[in-house]
Amino acid sequence: MKGRRGLIMGVANDHSIAWGIARTLAAHGAELAFTYQGEALGKRVKPLAESLGTPLVIPCDVEDIASVDATFARLAETWGGLDFVVHAIGFSDKNELKGRYADTTRENFSRTMVISCFSFTEIAKRAAALMQPGGTMLTLTYGGSTRVMPNYNVMGVAKAGLEASVRYLAADYGPLGIRVNALSPGPVRTLAGAGISDARLMFNFQKRHAPLRKTVSLDDIGGSALYLLSDLSGGVTGEIHHVDSGYNIISMPRPEALKT
Ligand code: NAD
Repeated sequence: MKGRRGLIMGVANDHSIAWGIARTLAAHGAELAFTYQGEALGKRVKPLAESLGTPLVIPCDVEDIASVDATFARLAETWGGLDFVVHAIGFSDKNELKGRYADTTRENFSRTMVISCFSFTEIAKRAAALMQPGGTMLTLTYGGSTRVMPNYNVMGVAKAGLEASVRYLAADYGPLGIRVNALSPGPVRTLAGAGISDARLMFNFQKRHAPLRKTVSLDDIGGSALYLLSDLSGGVTGEIHHVDSGYNIISMPRPEALKT
């Protein structure tokens, strides 16, 4: 990744998936910029960025399109171009990340969709305008998009929309030589992950029943991100790539595991 410049959106702290991706990319020579949502998180993100020698740390709340525009204006001014972008942003009211999907409110449905789904399309448009052929984009999804996960609810619907966006954006930007993909990790203990009711139970269940019998680490996810953001995956676009210890291939846990 030497000589490549990329924007990382979605670091909240050193447990964030975006942080795992950032440190892997930095270890492979990428030059990074970070965004943070609000000053409280900025206090955590700035020292992390500094530890990678990154001076470009920009406030950005994707609900406020002016702050998204300002972020890309700053990148254009400082770097003049962009080689990759990582979108690791998701939000839903945690009162609706429990119980039934059927009880989702219109207000939270819209807000979840704008932040967790449509923001990627808005960011992709601005990022593509700064990219040359060879540019790459990556977002983060979860298997609750295609199969029902208890309590994931409206977030699963937003991730389904996000995955469809990846395919449409890949088709739109492919002729420009820009690739668009998503990673779909298994559960990771992060701030966002903790908002889902019974997250610990889900985490332990997947650890127990995934073919690899482990949950994934930030380094596992970072490695897959490196592949999708670099020329190693030069022929891959519109892909939803699972990094979940194989959990997505399982239909039912082994009977012996259910008996113990
Ligand atoms: P995290 O809490 O560390 O990161 C979520 C990020 O979203 C935070 O940095 C937060 O500031 C940002 N965000 C939320 N609303 C925003 C807004 N309005 N404007 C700008 N930023 C905003 O949690 P994470 O688990 O690292 O989440 C990153 C991504 O990975 C999310 O899309 C999440 O759905 C996805 N994901 C998480 C898991 C998991 O188990 N943790 C699994 C699969 C996918």
